Amino acid sequence: MKLQFWGVRGYVPTPGAAYLRYGGNTCCVAVHGTAGELVVIDTGTGFCQLGDKLMEGEFRQGRGELTLLITHTYWDHILGLPFPGVVHTPGNRLNIYGPDSTRGSLKMVYDGILSPVYSPVYGLANIGATHSFQPISTEPIQVGGLTVRALPFSRRKHSPIWAYRIEEGERALVYITDVRYIDDQIWSQAVGFAHKADLLVHSAPYTRDEQVEDYGHSRVEDALELALEAETRRLFLYHHAPTRTDTALDALVMHYRAEVVALGGTFELDAAREGLLVEV
Ligand SMILES: [Zn+2]
Repeated sequence: MKLQFWGVRGYVPTPGAAYLRYGGNTCCVAVHGTAGELVVIDTGTGFCQLGDKLMEGEFRQGRGELTLLITHTYWDHILGLPFPGVVHTPGNRLNIYGPDSTRGSLKMVYDGILSPVYSPVYGLANIGATHSFQPISTEPIQVGGLTVRALPFSRRKHSPIWAYRIEEGERALVYITDVRYIDDQIWSQAVGFAHKADLLVHSAPYTRDEQVEDYGHSRVEDALELALEAETRRLFLYHHAPTRTDTALDALVMHYRAEVVALGGTFELDAAREGLLVEV
């Protein structure tokens, strides 16, 4: 299978000349199975350009199907859904999985961002694509030859956060974002979930020196330590802070590659960048 990054930024879209190489769209990745399966994780603004790309193929004729996995419903993970043509073309099918919260269902959230207050679409009922919403659970989901597993990191009941692991045969990728490892239990769950993954995509907007306040975000060091302890083969830092220019990200990766060596790690370390296609 292959993973392609379509949005790698956290918090807010970040356009500008200083961000062109890594990109300014918010969270969205596409996972392509060997048999043509398509699974998309998060619908940040990166989903708009992915949607345009998909419209070059069967989605233009209304014969496309994709599975969406939503980690949580903060803006940077949902904002792209209303815009691309794939969503508005009758015949396309969207199978959407994600967490409901104490404030309402995932469907209600997406319906809300399409409400007349925010959008001329006037609600989910008016999008062209056939769509279904399923609350995510720890029961595995099968998408063709891909097995999807999910893990809750639900310390905020009004916006629970889940992580995803996708397996194809012996290969596995893990996607973890917006998580703070506040105790040993959550840490050991994460280590088990990411165990021996070929690819770990992990949010890392700050370093421990930069952010001591806990707003629920993981730090670069968290991602490194998880990759080390879970024995993953490759780590992509993800959900970059809007302040992180291309030059700053280059420097960050160089610095932490040395750190990986100092820690005795053997995994490859990179920063996720928009458009990059990775063979898992
Ligand atoms: Zn986020």
